[in-house]
Amino acid sequence: MLDKKNIKPSIPLGGHNPSSKNAGTNPGSFAAKPNIGGPLTYSSPDTPGMPAPSEITAMDWKNETGRKNFTQLESARAGIITKEMHRVAEVEPHLTAEQICTEVATGRMIIPANTVHLSYLLDPMCIGRAGKTKINANMGASPVNSDTKLELEKLDWAIRWGADTVMDLSTGGNLDECRDAFLRHSTVPIGTVPIYSMIIGKSIEDLNYDLILKTLEHQAKQGVDYFTIHAGVLKEHLPFVKDRLIGIVSRGGSLLAKWMLHHNKQNPMYEIFDDICDIMREYDVSFSLGDGLRPGGLADASDEAQLRELYTLGELTERAWAKGVQVMVEGPGHVPFDQIEYNMKLQRTVCHGAPFYVLGPLVTDIFPGYDHITSCIGATAAGYHGASMLCYVTPKEHLGLPKKDDVKQGCIAYKIAAHAADVALGIPGSRDRDDELTKARAALNWNKHFELSFDPDLARAYHDEDLDVDTDFCAMCGHDWCSVRISKEIVEFYSGKSEDHQPEKRSTKSPGINSEGLKILEQRGNLSQEEIFRLAHKGKKAVCHSDNVTDEEKAKTLQDQELQEISVQN
Ligand code: SF4
Repeated sequence: MLDKKNIKPSIPLGGHNPSSKNAGTNPGSFAAKPNIGGPLTYSSPDTPGMPAPSEITAMDWKNETGRKNFTQLESARAGIITKEMHRVAEVEPHLTAEQICTEVATGRMIIPANTVHLSYLLDPMCIGRAGKTKINANMGASPVNSDTKLELEKLDWAIRWGADTVMDLSTGGNLDECRDAFLRHSTVPIGTVPIYSMIIGKSIEDLNYDLILKTLEHQAKQGVDYFTIHAGVLKEHLPFVKDRLIGIVSRGGSLLAKWMLHHNKQNPMYEIFDDICDIMREYDVSFSLGDGLRPGGLADASDEAQLRELYTLGELTERAWAKGVQVMVEGPGHVPFDQIEYNMKLQRTVCHGAPFYVLGPLVTDIFPGYDHITSCIGATAAGYHGASMLCYVTPKEHLGLPKKDDVKQGCIAYKIAAHAADVALGIPGSRDRDDELTKARAALNWNKHFELSFDPDLARAYHDEDLDVDTDFCAMCGHDWCSVRISKEIVEFYSGKSEDHQPEKRSTKSPGINSEGLKILEQRGNLSQEEIFRLAHKGKKAVCHSDNVTDEEKAKTLQDQELQEISVQN
């Protein structure tokens, strides 16, 4: 009989995610092969049963002969490394310009850079699996809230908080003026959903081929870097929507569905797709092939309507590549956590590795007001399993037009998702800042800790809310229970001993909360330090050296004097 008591579990081979010291993800890989014990141990292996990658790439189509103005895709296919590719290599230092050129040539990466926008302030970037995961922030005026100045402020704000691209989704006010202002002002690519401006002042039934092409040409000339075109929603897909809990939630998708039912005709965007490609190619506008039938609730995820549209998007990807136009593909939406990997990997098969740009996805529907969090969980899984760009969701999702602070909350939630995915994928260098912050945290170097934080004002304000001295513990556990301080004191441990990360003094007065931090605390409606001390000590004000002084020796003297003075009050 088997003696189960004597069976000792063996320790599995460890692994790690590489940082700058190690080579990491293979450019263009969508899922690394299992690499037990090696640097890619954990990085997105395929779960058994997932759809296989496609054999087809954009290289399978040739450039049309006799054209002068090459798109980035056409240049790459011709083996030309453009200056935009060189620039991308500078900001994605784990890739060479040659690798970027190959990725663009295969269609697995795009550089959304309209030639007109390049003549303004655009700083080229890439969207693709080999690059770092990107985030997009949506903004734009609505019929109930239209102010270009305010939208421009939000644009700057979104860029400040890490948006890699911004979509102008204006549906109110002067759309043309707002778009033009965005393009002249923005250093990041700007995307639009042109159908919105096609129907301003008209009804959707009036949409016609001429209007579509003229609007697209106008926006391309203005400098828009990518267009969301909902050409994949076909008339024959519509019957599959009728049993959904929440029908069609994409604005573009629902408008086009109405048009198709009214005219009893095929989607006009699909019908004139090749003409649309011709316009976009002239200015190198990239496609963001819209998912007009994306699920708007968990119950509708991965249903026949969504997947049929995805297959049409695969067909359109091929048609755009044949025309030399760069393509990314939009994806869901609201998806239960367990279906996310499958959705990402099905897209890479059907759309041949074209970058996937996902909206969330939200992994639960019952937290309105917190959908930046419900969706950031899905976005992390999506980034890990194959998405190249994550479209942010703000706390105002489903509830209203995001305000400035909602834009910040959405951007930060999505920076977390994108960064977490990059670290997990082992993109070289992506973990460096985490490691630096860990060393500063271990050394109890508060200034460095905050400098390395993504939001230093917030981190400083939260720290100083309770304790306005930078010393060798914080208010969370207090001096005696501070495990970080104790670890630092254990001689055998490396913890906290990195020479470059030591604080100048063990105890210094905090440099103080800046105006941004004060605003943050005001919004929290926080207690004053006096009140916190009073509550924490049940009415007894314990005086600690770290309350008052900047220097360790002075602190000791002061403690000796003042500890005598503590009187116990009930
Ligand atoms: S007191 Fe607690 S939370 Fe604060 S630094 Fe020490 S271990 Fe970390």
